[in-house]
Amino acid sequence: MEDIDILVIGSGMGGLVCADILSREGYKVCVLEKNQQIGGSLQTYVRDKVIFDSGVHYLGGLSKGQNLYQIFKYLDIVDKLKLQQQDLDAFDKILIEGDDTEYAFAQGYENFIEKLLVHFPDEEENLRTYCDKIKEVCSKFPLYNLRSTDSFNEKSSILEIDTKAFIDSITTNEKLRGILGANNALYAGQADKTPLYVHALILNSYIESSWKCVDGGSQIAKLMAKNIKQNGGKIIRNCEVKKIVEENGVASYVELANGEKIYGKHFISNMHPVKTLELTDTPLIKNAYRNRLKSLENSTSAFTLNIVFKKDTFKYIKHNYYCGREGYVWTTAEHTEENWPLGYAVFCGASSKSEEYADGLSVLSYMRFEEVAQWKDTFNTVSSVNDRGETYNQFKKRKAEILLDAVERKFPGIRDCIKSYYVATPLSYRDYIGNDDGSLYGIVKDYKHTLKTFISPRTKLPNLYLTGQNLNLHGILGAAMSGIVTCCAFLGDDNIVTKIRNA
Ligand SMILES: Cc1cc2nc3c(=O)[nH]c(=O)nc-3n(C[C@H](O)[C@H](O)[C@H](O)COP(=O)(O)OP(=O)(O)OC[C@H]3O[C@@H](n4cnc5c(N)ncnc54)[C@H](O)[C@@H]3O)c2cc1C
Repeated sequence: MEDIDILVIGSGMGGLVCADILSREGYKVCVLEKNQQIGGSLQTYVRDKVIFDSGVHYLGGLSKGQNLYQIFKYLDIVDKLKLQQQDLDAFDKILIEGDDTEYAFAQGYENFIEKLLVHFPDEEENLRTYCDKIKEVCSKFPLYNLRSTDSFNEKSSILEIDTKAFIDSITTNEKLRGILGANNALYAGQADKTPLYVHALILNSYIESSWKCVDGGSQIAKLMAKNIKQNGGKIIRNCEVKKIVEENGVASYVELANGEKIYGKHFISNMHPVKTLELTDTPLIKNAYRNRLKSLENSTSAFTLNIVFKKDTFKYIKHNYYCGREGYVWTTAEHTEENWPLGYAVFCGASSKSEEYADGLSVLSYMRFEEVAQWKDTFNTVSSVNDRGETYNQFKKRKAEILLDAVERKFPGIRDCIKSYYVATPLSYRDYIGNDDGSLYGIVKDYKHTLKTFISPRTKLPNLYLTGQNLNLHGILGAAMSGIVTCCAFLGDDNIVTKIRNA
């Protein structure tokens, strides 16, 4: 293989953003992806001719001039994406068991306030205070606002605010408190842990504008892959990295599952940082650092039910639903075998086949890895089929039916529309993404230990960098920003941010 400047390990959002940006800057890049399909959580799959997303149900910040729009514009993909804006008056609706009201989160701050005032007419001042704080928190993150100087001091004043405590301080109305935190599955929110900045950066992007990818999010990965190839880069699929080998104080080559060695001048790992260090055997990375990263908690995982509808039976919904039980907003992941599910989210896939009817629907509910631990020694992907056995099939069926019962209470008659359904568990997420526990969003942020949970893109090997959702923030926007942070660290300046702002 010819000389490679930068080997990118993993083709998730962060890895592809790095490869795309750095190939534009004239570097010879090569992306190594263990799966048959590129994209990591951007992957889609087809069941009964219906496309399902694995990890991108909606995107924020994609109206002209907003942050993700500018990033995608710079990457020259924004005009090529098939996007559909969600209902302006409701990108999410919150449903609570035992309450027939649908509480809408609308796009645009004034609209957001106005729609909540319908149900909480006495709360205008509190809702305004809430929105002002969300905007203030977001303003402290320079990169999020595509400003070049990412000074830590600017944001240090707001890092240590607890989301739940903040929401509780806004109003004494218990119902409104629950509603404002109700879509916290977007970031696997936990009481006394999730920092307000996580809630703010994510919610703000959807309030600014909220979008679905028509026919799935894998188009984002495909468009970036095309760019990378046009810029002279390479993407190799079915190519699992088993070792990152250090020689003379620098990363020298990677060893693949088939024993092949690929040399590079620089390396960017889009794998989970703990996985990256496990594959990198060098005394230069101290055990204290390895243990520190290992000790960080990963976010929980999920059970996903992907439903294929009979043709033209279920009307397409232009918003998402978050359904939960009163009093469990911040403890939805702490279910027991008996009370599962304590909450679930519903996403209708946008399809180019029909705007009126949905062809598929995904229902996500938390599931911890320990719940599938008895099958932990199995591995199953399209390129490495390994039946996990009959007990696993029975488990999936039993859980799917329980979840469907819960969904049917809010969507009566849904079962009559179902042609077939398919299930993903924490094992599916683990096997496709390559982490240890199927974690949805990677390392959990904690307002009490903010510095510990910001991961630097640099490692003790001067030519080995990290990228992806575990660095700054998860989500397509978060992982894209992590990609930019990694590129800035590699290039030694933040000119890229200026280029993105001016794109
Ligand atoms: C169920 C779910 C729903 C989500 N919903 C949304 C949403 O609606 N909106 C949103 O913005 N975000 C959503 N997210 C989050 C978002 O998808 C992720 O934060 C983001 O895509 C992660 O990008 P990443 O760069 O960290 O890479 P990842 O997606 O983690 O990809 C890492 C890549 O590295 C590869 N890899 C791992 N090990 C190796 C190896 N040894 N050799 C070679 N390759 C390797 C993997 O195969 C994978 O392709 C969701 C995530 C999940 C799981």
